Amino acid sequence: MTERPRLTVLSGPSGVGKSTVVAHMRTVHPEVWLSVSATTRKPRPGERNGVHYFFVSDEEFDRLVADGELLEWAEFSGNRYGTPRKAVLDRLEAGEPVLLEIDLQGARLVRSSMPEAQLVFLAPPSWEELVRRLTGRGTEPPEVIAQRLDAAKVELASESEFDTTLVNTSVEDVAGELLALMKVS
Ligand code: 5GP
Repeated sequence: MTERPRLTVLSGPSGVGKSTVVAHMRTVHPEVWLSVSATTRKPRPGERNGVHYFFVSDEEFDRLVADGELLEWAEFSGNRYGTPRKAVLDRLEAGEPVLLEIDLQGARLVRSSMPEAQLVFLAPPSWEELVRRLTGRGTEPPEVIAQRLDAAKVELASESEFDTTLVNTSVEDVAGELLALMKVS
């Protein structure tokens, strides 16, 4: 019997490089499907609606929650983020591997609603490196960076809740390890 592809959740502190790892992974394996989340956050320069996120208003997010259209959602650093349920379930039903790149609260919610999901924690090589990356990104004002670093301290302490930890020393290596965990070759 072939093993059914599982839902894989990639989580880890803001700034650790989740999006970069996923983007690299998809240049090698463009067929790997990544869920596009809905968010109330404003787009950063270069981010496109429907590609990086579905950028929605507070009212639209309320509606998605009320109508049960989100598999999970969480508030992070003053904005809400959620995973559209139907697209994920359709892909899993079709037997395709599915990857979610979400925060720790979302990972916990997926763990309780879909215990078969594998939870992967992306850790920075060191705290200093995380501070450097989050500060050097240049996309957030200082108060947002401070907020995200506070959240990161809590998130780093939760690593033991995950099935696997990958340390982001090299984007290529981590992307390869993630593909192996997802059984994509
Ligand atoms: P950013 O604003 O940097 O794009 O994302 C902030 C945090 O929200 C990151 O940790 C990211 O992984 C997380 N995130 C993105 N989409 C979702 C989602 O659909 N659900 C949850 N729970 N977190 C998400």
